[in-house]
Amino acid sequence: MNYYSLNDPTHVVSFTQAVINGLAPGNGLYFPEQVPSFEIGFFRKLPELSLPEIAFHVLKPYTTPDLTEVVLHEITQQVFDFDIPLVEVQPDIYSLELFHGPTLAFKDIGARFLARTLSHIAKDRKIRVLVATSGDTGSAVANGFLGIEGTEVIVLYPKDKVSELQQKQFATLGQNIRPVAIRGTFDDCQQLVKTAFSDTGINQTMNLTSANSINIARWIPQSVYYYWAIAQLAKTGKKIVVAVPSGNVGNISSGVLAQKTGLPIHRFIAASNQNDVLPKYLKSGNYLPKPSVQTIANAMDVGHPNNFPRLLQLHQNNYSEMTGNLTGYSYTNEQIQKLIQSCYLANNYLLDPHGATGFGSLLDDQLAANETGVFLETAHPAKFREVVEPVIGQQITLPAALARFDKRTLVTEELPTGYQEFKQYLMDGIS
Ligand SMILES: *Cc1c(COP(=O)(O)O)cnc(C)c1O
Repeated sequence: MNYYSLNDPTHVVSFTQAVINGLAPGNGLYFPEQVPSFEIGFFRKLPELSLPEIAFHVLKPYTTPDLTEVVLHEITQQVFDFDIPLVEVQPDIYSLELFHGPTLAFKDIGARFLARTLSHIAKDRKIRVLVATSGDTGSAVANGFLGIEGTEVIVLYPKDKVSELQQKQFATLGQNIRPVAIRGTFDDCQQLVKTAFSDTGINQTMNLTSANSINIARWIPQSVYYYWAIAQLAKTGKKIVVAVPSGNVGNISSGVLAQKTGLPIHRFIAASNQNDVLPKYLKSGNYLPKPSVQTIANAMDVGHPNNFPRLLQLHQNNYSEMTGNLTGYSYTNEQIQKLIQSCYLANNYLLDPHGATGFGSLLDDQLAANETGVFLETAHPAKFREVVEPVIGQQITLPAALARFDKRTLVTEELPTGYQEFKQYLMDGIS
């Protein structure tokens, strides 16, 4: 498969080149030249396939010929080696638990696929991965790349805006992982990353690549678990509505990508916190990015969703096609807290603040009798214990995967938001 830039359709590159570049020139997003369409037989067979088998089949057309079948087989076996259970929370509302990976968030999947793919395709040169994080991306990417030869990861995060435990998951690792606290917001971090990529000098000397959800090797593998969910819901015989807690809208656009290959998803719901650029757009037709505000669902504190052009492209850049497939809801901190509390009381199911918006949007959207809803539970509630514990008035036990980070000591550097300081930091690090 080749990939073109959404900024410039004449810029076409291979899978390998798109993964290494991360972004196309002028900050364009890569997009597959052709969205594959899978045969009916594959969809019929889905319920019998294992998760790694589904992953192999789905990812093959996107990665051929750059990854051989043998390599893709190995990578999909390694990446999809944990369970993704579908849990019925209440009648006709299911939770797709994407948090059983090493850092307990859905970003583990894309990050692990990217790390293994990069180390495979860039064997002979040192690749530096630049990643801006509002929390979960940093830990997923850092852990996905930890110790992977020929790579170095620079994690930029907004100082004091990431929970301590989240920070410990990427800022205590050492080895090839370099965390930097930026005295600003997530958008400032994202801006630094973008500026570095458009700075050709630094980009070339350092072999920079991106690990944000803009990289196709993170974005495309996220479509796999939508097939997995549908496989398990097929027996309900109902039309399936998928609610996705959304920030940079990478996850939801991966879902729409899956749908465009023929996967029977009836429609989508985009759930957000108070950073409601997408829900507002869906209601008004006006796309108005704005500075992000800090919320208790902080992995969705995004004022300028960077995957939005992909979501548009998947709907032929057509507003009415988009609104026919997608509705949007946004939730305040208070509403999120109420949702966590009421779901816990009614169903004995503990939501994290992000999943809570997805759950809430399925309630608010009032599904038809022939529809059934699934929301993506994007992180384990224990990752946000500061938020969740006071709401349910109870302490939660940390899963072992998280507890192992709790005792470690933070080792991080700190920088202002200016690009010159960041550039100097990068230059100083070249050895
Ligand atoms: C990143 C993240 C999201 C938002 O996903 P996008 O792909 O940026 O829309 C939602 N929930 C959690 C827990 C996340 O880490």
